[in-house]
Order: sequence, then structure tokens, then C-alpha cells
Amino acid sequence: MNSLLPDWPAPMNIKVLFSDRRGGFSNTPYASLNLGVHVGDDADLVACNRASIDVPGEPFWLEQTHTDICINADIEATDRLGDASVTRATGKVLAIMVADCLPVMFTSVAGDIVGVAHAGWKGLADGVLFSTVTALGGNSVLAWMGPAIGPCHYTVGEDVRARFSSDTGFVEGSDKKFSMDLYAIAKEQLESLGVETYGGGLCTYCDSSKFFSYRRDGVTGRMGGFIWME
Ligand SMILES: [Zn+2]
Repeated sequence: MNSLLPDWPAPMNIKVLFSDRRGGFSNTPYASLNLGVHVGDDADLVACNRASIDVPGEPFWLEQTHTDICINADIEATDRLGDASVTRATGKVLAIMVADCLPVMFTSVAGDIVGVAHAGWKGLADGVLFSTVTALGGNSVLAWMGPAIGPCHYTVGEDVRARFSSDTGFVEGSDKKFSMDLYAIAKEQLESLGVETYGGGLCTYCDSSKFFSYRRDGVTGRMGGFIWME
């Protein structure tokens, strides 16, 4: 499989793996490394794909529903309904799935707590990055933004624009539509919290050879972002 390496000054014990669509077992339109079980793909093939991910334990998968809920993975939960998680446990693998929404990885500068968040426009509007940083417990924090849909391919209406008080990340086009830059908005939110932020700049829609994109393909697979402490 292929994965992206984050360009951030994380401590040596912090490990990140971000899978793109290549090197898996699924067929079109999920070809090939689809990690999503709720997107219509063959469950056995998804299981094979998940098993091929080189992480040190069963990932802490979430039932993502575009909320601002951040789950503490160190407390046994009855459900996994949430769009972010944190852990202080060495070897516990946090996971997030995306296909256009912005995946954000977090670590404390000290390398003693990590987190992930799934941030589409709704998550950003509702404050999923704020709840994740809060759950990281007031530590000095670094963040890395993985691949999301870029402003080149992301157009939203006034309803979405109206959910944000800042002008950052929006450029008005024709017909009261706006191009939206998830990276710019996330970076502004994170930096307002004192989080040093890295990554960004890719577009999942632009590169169909590497990335799944829901906006481009509709029925498609999901990529995965994983973070853990050694
Ligand atoms: Zn694009």
C-alpha cells in the first residue's frame, strides 16, 4: 500500500499512517484500498483491505456522522458515535475515514497524547476541531492536515457560508456560490487555539489516481488516517 508521510515536527514516538486508494483488493468504484464498511463495497474485501493496513493493533474506528463529538478512546464506550478521538495509551491506534472531508491528526509537543478529527464543512462549523483540542487537555499541540477536497473543486451555497463568521476560506463566485477552502478555515481555527498547524494543499478531487473523492464520484471508497504512540 501507499501512504502519505506528514511533514510535521512530531516527537519520534508519534506514528502516522494515511492510506490512499492504491494497493487494496476492492473493485471499481471502490478500487482499491477502500476502508469503509458502509459504502456498499463487499464486506470481505473491506476486511482484507483493513487487515493490510500496517498498524500495531485494531484501530479505534468511529461511527462518523459529521458531529463535533470527540471520544476518549481510553474509556470503554457503549458506542463510537463521534467524529474525533483522543488517547493517552501507548499502542492504541486512532482512526478516521475520509473521502473529501478534512482529516486532522494531533499530537502534544511532549508526545504523550494524540488525537484525530474528521472535519467537513459541518464539523468545522460546529467546532469539531475545538472539541478535539479541548480533549487534548490544554497541552501544547501540533496538528497535521491530510488530503481533503481543495477550493478548486469545492463550491458551497449561502447556507454553508452563513455558518461561518470569518471570511477566511471563502471566495464568492457567480450565482451566490462560494469556493470553500477547508484547509484555510481549519488552519485559522487551530491557530486561534494556539495549535501549530502543518500540511494541506492537496485536492482529493483533482487526483483520481491516488484519492477517493465523494464529490467527484458519488459512490466511492474511503481512505484512512491513523495515529498512535510507540
Ligand atoms: Zn481540485
